[in-house]
Amino acid sequence: MICELCKEKEANKRNTHYLTDSIIRTCLNLDGVNNRETGFYFDVSNNTPFVNFNFQRGTSIPKLEESLRREATEEEIEKAKDIPFSVDNVFCSQCEDIFTSIEIPFIETILPQFRQSDLTGTNRIILTQNKTVKLFIYLQIWRTAICEEVYNLNEETMENLRLTILNSNTIENCDIPNFPFHITYLETVGDEKAYTNNFVGCTSDRNPNIIFMNDFVIQFFENDNEIKTLEFYGLNQSNDLEQHINTDNEEIIIKVLPNQRRLDIVGSIYKEEKVQKSVSYFIGTFSKQWFLIFGGFPHSNLIQEYLQFITTGEFDILKYTQESIIEKTTEFIDSKLK
Ligand SMILES: [Zn+2]
Repeated sequence: MICELCKEKEANKRNTHYLTDSIIRTCLNLDGVNNRETGFYFDVSNNTPFVNFNFQRGTSIPKLEESLRREATEEEIEKAKDIPFSVDNVFCSQCEDIFTSIEIPFIETILPQFRQSDLTGTNRIILTQNKTVKLFIYLQIWRTAICEEVYNLNEETMENLRLTILNSNTIENCDIPNFPFHITYLETVGDEKAYTNNFVGCTSDRNPNIIFMNDFVIQFFENDNEIKTLEFYGLNQSNDLEQHINTDNEEIIIKVLPNQRRLDIVGSIYKEEKVQKSVSYFIGTFSKQWFLIFGGFPHSNLIQEYLQFITTGEFDILKYTQESIIEKTTEFIDSKLK
């Protein structure tokens, strides 16, 4: 395999994160501490009715099962061996050093302005370090497009981003391409654990593609004509998207949403993307089985009774696997046949 960045050297690097580790790390740990490879995270980007529950290497199976409140499946145990949002043999060691040289200035000079500041009453932050910020954002976008099958950009954009990153050490600020993008910072108040409510992942079926990386959300557009406000669970509620899109290489405006808005957004993503899908999936499974036996669809009261039965009153999405739902559904129908 040839490295995707330089297109010259052997892609010898393993475990390269394609979203910067120090940004996503606090979100991926169950207790929010900065120990790598000990926690859990939730993947909302999959299209199944189940939360794709992932956990990082080193997570103990008893701890996992305690959180799931059920036994872990073979597949989940297998997954414990993977490091999330990282890839093997896509980039080379020299290019990994380029990534690091872009990431460090952002982590050292920009990140503290968000994570270590009191943002009460702040609606936006204007950053004058255009090159530092833009290279960092482009790096996340380009690597995600390389590594995530669902995140796609056109060839010309990809090549432009690749060359910008490859030549990042020497490129002049004024020569950095001006792709329109919008960054939302989700103020995260509380201790480190508060970050574990946030999401990491990207959307696939929407334009623009959106990357959630913990407390930062990137909306990227390939050209000015594509700029549009997409209502995404309240992310762009205030309808001021265009005011926060950079148009030159002078400064970068970052929109700040207060902690409560963050909680509203993550809450509605969770509810809409997962709980609703799961409930319709459960109802569908039940109705089909019922139809096969009785030749008609169940009455709505019976559906409610069924939902009550399988969720035992409280809806904890992590408790269910496809197998357990089928088993419980059969059990419920059996009880009705007696
Ligand atoms: Zn390389």
